[in-house]
Amino acid sequence: MHEPHNQLVAGVDMGATHIRFCLQTAAGEVLHCEKQRTAEVIAHGVVNGITALIQAQLDARNARCYGLVMGFPALVGKDKRTIISTPNLPLAPGELSGLARQLENTLGCPVEFSRDVNLQLSFDVQEHNLTQQQVLAAYLGTGMGFAIWLNGAPWTGAHGVAGELGHIPQGDRQLRCGCGNAGCLETVCSGLALRRWYEQQPRDYDLGDLFIHAAQEPFVVDLLDHAARAIATSINLFDPDAVILGGGVMDMPAFPREALIAAIRTWLRKPLPWEAVRFLAASSSAFNGAQGAATLARSRFTPQSVAAPAQALHG
Ligand SMILES: [Zn+2]
Repeated sequence: MHEPHNQLVAGVDMGATHIRFCLQTAAGEVLHCEKQRTAEVIAHGVVNGITALIQAQLDARNARCYGLVMGFPALVGKDKRTIISTPNLPLAPGELSGLARQLENTLGCPVEFSRDVNLQLSFDVQEHNLTQQQVLAAYLGTGMGFAIWLNGAPWTGAHGVAGELGHIPQGDRQLRCGCGNAGCLETVCSGLALRRWYEQQPRDYDLGDLFIHAAQEPFVVDLLDHAARAIATSINLFDPDAVILGGGVMDMPAFPREALIAAIRTWLRKPLPWEAVRFLAASSSAFNGAQGAATLARSRFTPQSVAAPAQALHG
């Protein structure tokens, strides 16, 4: 099939501090990646800022856009257009209603929203050639990020909010989670929990070096045990081909990755999925989310993808 060379896909990963943006060709070649401060981009409104960011690069290439996928650190509805809650974004509530429609009007292409962890998953699945497999991903960062890849796409559940492993009731009941419930896993197993423990008393090392100096501390040992049991539970439930492990906490120096995997494996059902499931490392480059978004846009909006059987399952 011959595609016009100037027909591209766009991916945007909108974080609290930075917005990252990538352009890809319909064949998946990465043409452009850039990072901007969120506050500067949206200073004159989200629609104006995002449109200007993308349109400048399209104009420079005399190109048009097949579609945009945009990720948020937020719950996104099943319709892939409704942002349900954005505790971490500096946006006025009114700015989010109708955002997808307004961007479609200004950019002249279809727009879909996604939870940021699903963008990271899409990138890692592509990197590891797992698009036809069943994959789970656990990203232990600020929170306990988790995502599910089924039938060639992120699986988002009946309402768009599947995969909230960080909010299973396996934490400290005395602590309230950012979601409003008490006792979520994230109260004891997240970067936030690590930071809270670290700040309880003066330490003679940086938080970032915690696994070099404090890997044997009971709180840290327990945190890894919580992570192992939660991830093992998800594996026993889903029986995936592969599990991707990553996130900012796992990227810290001396993170005991092999010990974590060994602990996960002790809880896996024998003989399966125990003897078959594979553990893979997530890539930790800063543009994964935006590239994953562009990859999703490619699978959703380019002409090849519309004819692909995997997409038919998802409508
Ligand atoms: Zn919670």
